[in-house]
Amino acid sequence: PRKVVEELDPYVPGRSIDEIASEYGVELDKIIKLGSNENPMGPSPQAVKAIVENLNLINQYPESDLQGLVSEIAEYSGVSPENIIAGGDGADEILDVLGKTFMDEGDEFIVPLPSYMYYEFTLKIHGGVPVYARWDIEKNLLDVDSVLEAITPRTKFIFLCTPNNPTGGLIAKEDIERILEATEAIVVVDEAYFEFSEVNNVDLLKDHPNLFILRTFSKVMGLAGMRIGYGIASPDIIEYMYRVKPVFSITKLSQIAARATLNDEEYIRESTKLSIASREYLYQEISKFKTLRVFPSKSNYMLVDVHETGMKAKDLTTELMKRGVIVRDCTSFKGLDEYWIRVSVGTMEEDERFIGILKEVV
Ligand code: PMP
Repeated sequence: PRKVVEELDPYVPGRSIDEIASEYGVELDKIIKLGSNENPMGPSPQAVKAIVENLNLINQYPESDLQGLVSEIAEYSGVSPENIIAGGDGADEILDVLGKTFMDEGDEFIVPLPSYMYYEFTLKIHGGVPVYARWDIEKNLLDVDSVLEAITPRTKFIFLCTPNNPTGGLIAKEDIERILEATEAIVVVDEAYFEFSEVNNVDLLKDHPNLFILRTFSKVMGLAGMRIGYGIASPDIIEYMYRVKPVFSITKLSQIAARATLNDEEYIRESTKLSIASREYLYQEISKFKTLRVFPSKSNYMLVDVHETGMKAKDLTTELMKRGVIVRDCTSFKGLDEYWIRVSVGTMEEDERFIGILKEVV
């Protein structure tokens, strides 16, 4: 392997329902998954219907020009189709294509810690060198100065996740603008969860050609398993990226499911509403635990400090998994020690069952 691959820390994703069922002998349909920030309502019924009706098309290659999907994403996002690139392994593929398109060996990229770990994982493979900035956990705010101070002539990307995964805090638009204006590097504003915060930064595109907004169908759109993500940026950036993006990466069924979901406005509205209500309920309930400290979130998950329980996140999450609950052990997130978990919102029933089980464990 290349040296970088030999030395690469593996990326640790959240645990799946099947893994927990076989590891702990819990019945599949009793498991509550609050570990991967998915849509607890399930997919849009319109998406399921569209997939079923089109199953016989899987002998054909998917459309490679993606015009139908791209124009509907553009409309949803309030931009033109030339501003959109869509990817077939979710937003993660878009990150990979950004790396392939723009990263030269030894270029730097800035990541505030803690944040989404896939930036570092994938950009390193393309020869990038991570430079760390800081997310202030206590204030749940980005430390903007730490980002500005990290900029050098070799900075190729700056990753700003808003709402931030795993802390749940937002980055103020003025702060994003300050960073955009301080550099010619591409500032990737990751809005994977923007629907839950009810704000976005697309308006900044007009004056800032170095802005790249990253989004996904895996969260409010309920299609994590179909693996569709997209980016919004200036036509120049988009055009270069299409030169290297794998042409058939978005399957026909994924395109069909994404379009059906975009057209199911009621589903998107209800999903957002449910997730916000569930977030507020879980926040209130977790706040009542004397040994847990939960942070206010603008997303569909929240960060919980478990130091006072005396249990490491690994042991606490294992106890929960034995009882059929999956939450995220944050030990693999750089910038956090071994005493943090992240809890995704569920349906109200799942939330209530989860709180009951949490009482047995802490
Ligand atoms: N960005 C953030 C902040 C995320 O949490 C995720 C999902 N874990 C992604 C991007 C990638 O999502 P996907 O590849 O499923 O589209």
